[in-house]
Amino acid sequence: MRTVIYPGSFDPVTNGHLDVIQRAARLFDRVIVAVANNDGKQPLFTLEERRQLVARVTRTLANVETDSFDGLLIDYARARRADAIIRGLRAVSDFEFEFQLALINRRLNEAVETIFVMPREAYTFLSSRIVKEICRLGGDVSAFVPAPVLHALERKFGRPHARRARLRE
Ligand code: ADP
Repeated sequence: MRTVIYPGSFDPVTNGHLDVIQRAARLFDRVIVAVANNDGKQPLFTLEERRQLVARVTRTLANVETDSFDGLLIDYARARRADAIIRGLRAVSDFEFEFQLALINRRLNEAVETIFVMPREAYTFLSSRIVKEICRLGGDVSAFVPAPVLHALERKFGRPHARRARLRE
């Protein structure tokens, strides 16, 4: 049984993340989407909200489960007996950081391999940060996130027309 961990902030999960999850689910027997409790970042959604949204949007994928974790990813990977860590690579901008992270994790634990997948081109520009920014400014993000995430964003920010009206005041 081959297990892979897909770690990230998922604040919130986007269609780009979902693309990576679907690819991972085809490659591995078990995929654990692990939502990081990262104190360094100020998330829009709580850890539990982020985990629940990932669970909602991956409900139909039988070999995908969700979890959250604290501390070192590599310790978590060992505890979950994972064979690999999967990350998405969008563009050159992701490469340097991801390269560093993968090599450090290899130094910490040789047994866990990091693998990278490229999302569909349409998602290469997509990030949770961009989605939140568009949403905050009253834009429509329905093409970028699954429906449950869109509704969760609307509950945080209000409906698009209301947000735009607020910004004009
Ligand atoms: P982090 O806080 O680790 O950056 P994110 O939730 O932003 O967490 O991203 C988690 C992983 O998903 C990273 O490997 C990131 O490169 C990847 N990722 C994020 N958005 C996309 C996307 N649109 N397409 C492919 N991979 C993505």
